[in-house]
Parts: sequence; C-alpha cells; structure tokens
Amino acid sequence: MAGLVLEYYVLLRTVLHHQPHLRVCRKRCRHCGIFFLTHPRNAGRQDLRCPFGCRQAYRRQQSTRRSVAYYQDPIGKIKKHLLNGKRRAPRGPEERPPAPPVAVAGPAADPGGAGGRAGRWHEPMVAHVRMVSRLIEGRRVSRREVREMLERVVRQHTIVRRRKIDQAVAWIKENPP
Ligand SMILES: [Zn+2]
Repeated sequence: MAGLVLEYYVLLRTVLHHQPHLRVCRKRCRHCGIFFLTHPRNAGRQDLRCPFGCRQAYRRQQSTRRSVAYYQDPIGKIKKHLLNGKRRAPRGPEERPPAPPVAVAGPAADPGGAGGRAGRWHEPMVAHVRMVSRLIEGRRVSRREVREMLERVVRQHTIVRRRKIDQAVAWIKENPP
C-alpha cells in the first residue's frame, strides 16, 4: 500500500510540475492526510475529504446522523407514525407512498459499461478519475474509457508484481537464508 501511495505521489508531483496551474487544486484530506486533486470550484476549501474512501464514509455517517436526529425529534416521530400508518393501509393506488428505489447491482445497472464489468469499479472512484483526467488532459473522458484504463493499469501492475515476486523467489533459491 505504501508503495502505491508513493507511486501516486510521484505521479501527482510530475503532473503539478508540468501543469502548475493545477496546484490550487491540490488538497490534503482532512481525515487521512493524503493529497489529491479536487475540482477547481473547490480550490478555496480546506475542509475536504479524499475521494479514496473518507468522503463516502463521512457522507454515510452524516446521513445516519440526520435520520437518527429526524426520528428522535417529536415531529419526526409523528411523521414517521403517519408514514407507517399510510404504508399499512393505502386507500387508493394514487395515495400509496412511492416505492423505495430498488438497488440494482452489477453490469445490468450500467448498460454503457465496459463489456459488462462495470460493477468492478467503485463509482465514486471512476468519477474522480474522470474529473482528474479532464483537468489534466483538458477533454471529457467517458466512464467506459476510465474503466478500460483502470483495467489496463491493474493488469500491468499484476504483471510487474508477479515478475518481482519471481525474481525474489529466484534470488532466495540462490541465496538461501
Ligand atoms: Zn482521506
């Protein structure tokens, strides 16, 4: 993991060296401390969380807190009671509360995905890579392109890692501990 972060920092540094105008977009996650690029509209902010998990975790936490607070206050309780009552006895089809959105996972959820493997990539991550690619390259990049790029990068990484392990094993065989 540390190796990956180092590699990422080297890349980030190179990008900022060649495109110094993006330095205002370089932010540090207030939760884990990692550096990342944000959209220029957030350039002035100091309270950002990284897109590698901290932002999502914070959002989930806030939404739980909101719904807990909502159902704890008396008006919220009455509303909940009414809502439950309506759910139990809908008077007509038009008065029925709207059906909750059905969570669809996997390739079916995204027909425009890269060859049916859309579910493999975390959507906020794809969105982040798209945004950063757009900042760096100055053109729109599709989700599909991002996914294909990620596939390529991971494949490459696996090959390099395997090669390193093979080399280490060969070295150990020749130089036993
Ligand atoms: Zn973070």
